[in-house]
Amino acid sequence: MRKVSSKCKQCRREGAKLFLKGERCKSAKCAMIKKNYKPGVHGPKRAMTKLSAYGKQLREKQKAKRIYGMLEAQFYNLAKKAMKNKKDAGKTMLALLEKRFDNVIYRLKLAPSRIAARQLISHSQFTINGRTVNIASYTTKLGDQIKVKETKSKSKYWEKIKEAIKNEKDIPTWLALDNKNLTAQITAEPNVEDVANFIDSSLIIGFYSR
Ligand code: SF4
Repeated sequence: MRKVSSKCKQCRREGAKLFLKGERCKSAKCAMIKKNYKPGVHGPKRAMTKLSAYGKQLREKQKAKRIYGMLEAQFYNLAKKAMKNKKDAGKTMLALLEKRFDNVIYRLKLAPSRIAARQLISHSQFTINGRTVNIASYTTKLGDQIKVKETKSKSKYWEKIKEAIKNEKDIPTWLALDNKNLTAQITAEPNVEDVANFIDSSLIIGFYSR
């Protein structure tokens, strides 16, 4: 089963904006502005609890899992894969997260959230290197060519996105977007430094190394 609590509650639980709701997250309606305290019956008065080392690791893992919208088993498998790189498992994990197909579509601004990106992918809107890929967890590779299918690109959704991204400057440097043709390429390995400012991967690796 995918998540049980509402998206905004997940942000409030983690005490951070996880950007799960697209445009709303950038607006004044964001629950982290209106209700910046942990959810629950005690409301804002609930006492702050000091986390143990294990608690910190667990919370960081939960936060990352929620940001990327992954299930525990998927997240565990990804962390284990990253841990094969003994030298820098943390960075490898962040790179693997960033290279997920749904994340790439979100980073390219072709979807307002990773959840929306997953939906587009599962509806077979894209090809990678000429082949339809409808698996959100697919790990993209350097040189991959991503394209919105010709047959889909005339829809209202894509016309709107084209308009929205025509002057878009906020695309990560490892991705190249051709906004007119709705195509993109993976031109480098992800720059994980930006992500590392928000996710402490060493805590997550520590959690799975116990
Ligand atoms: Fe989180 Fe705010 Fe977006 Fe809700 S609107 S998902 S609280 S960032």
